[in-house]
Amino acid sequence: MLTSKMIKEAALAAGADICGIGSMDRFKDTPDLWNPRLMYPDAKSIICLAFRIPRGVQRGIETGTQFYQYPSLAYGGTNQMFAPAVLYELGRMIEDEGYEAFVYRNTGARSVQSDMDGKMGRTYSPEEKAFSMESSGNGITGDRRTMPHTRATREGNVPPDLLIHFRLCAVACGIGEIGWSKMLLTPEFGPMQRVVFLFTDAELEPDPLYNGPKLCKMCMKCARECPGGCIPTDRTKSITVNVGGKECTWGDIDVWRCNTAYTNANKYYNPFVPADVFDQNKAFLESTAEMTPENEVAAARALEAYLPSWVGYAMAKCGGCLRGCVSMLEQKGGCLEGKFKNPLRNGKPWRMDR
Ligand code: SF4
Ligand code: SF4
Repeated sequence: MLTSKMIKEAALAAGADICGIGSMDRFKDTPDLWNPRLMYPDAKSIICLAFRIPRGVQRGIETGTQFYQYPSLAYGGTNQMFAPAVLYELGRMIEDEGYEAFVYRNTGARSVQSDMDGKMGRTYSPEEKAFSMESSGNGITGDRRTMPHTRATREGNVPPDLLIHFRLCAVACGIGEIGWSKMLLTPEFGPMQRVVFLFTDAELEPDPLYNGPKLCKMCMKCARECPGGCIPTDRTKSITVNVGGKECTWGDIDVWRCNTAYTNANKYYNPFVPADVFDQNKAFLESTAEMTPENEVAAARALEAYLPSWVGYAMAKCGGCLRGCVSMLEQKGGCLEGKFKNPLRNGKPWRMDR
């Protein structure tokens, strides 16, 4: 008989760092377009595999001298290679036992609803669009956060692709909580992990929802270190959802501003772009500019010429929320205290003087 213990041992042996298991009834109140029960109605269990982001890939960004390794290796490499390989291996083991393994990796798929802000309709993906809009000749490309023309394949179905909320699914598997920064926090790695999932018709003993000491200290370090001012410091600006009876609350982040800021940072945190580019494009590059779709496309176009390899440089230049959170959780009695012999941060974080 297939048991949770067998699954966890196999997952960890294959290379996952954490394995948590939830029951599908924890999604009974999840909105349809995000609800994995509609994707696989006979599924009984959801399995979450978490893969640590080695703290060392943040080192070059922390010192301000090497930005490429975190986004290319820890983020892209884990999403594209390490995690899918382990997930696939676990799926084979489960199917050898006679149960189905619906594997679900981090995906670039699109829904009729924006994976950014949950809005319906035609939502552009400016960071992708800017690259190909010129070659299309009409200033418009098909790169969007949504697939607005998609229709249900039969009555009663939701239109594909059904996307799941990764962080809330991880909570449903009991591995951690959502921090104020909206990042998933676990006791083992704080905010430093990526996750993948597997749905199966095997009825497995679920883990309890995380109920240990609060992982988020509400210190607002993430908000203070965000170069885009995307995370509110006002505690009333929050979003709360219920996952299987557990309340999850996070700051109401300006996701579109983050979308621009995490790739471009700003004048003081992006050493790859001359200061005058930021000065001349304040209307859409200032952290106080309203991030309309037009402004985001303009921002991406203004900056793309300076980034020789998009994947390896995106996400690295701010990372303020992640590194700020790690350093706080190491130093102020948080879950990462004592995990490393030396702290991530030894002094003030850098800020360019220009
Ligand atoms: S930096 Fe502080 S407030 Fe932000 S997620 Fe981490 S612990 Fe929570
Ligand atoms: S990823 Fe960067 S821009 Fe986005 S919230 Fe975190 S620090 Fe701010």
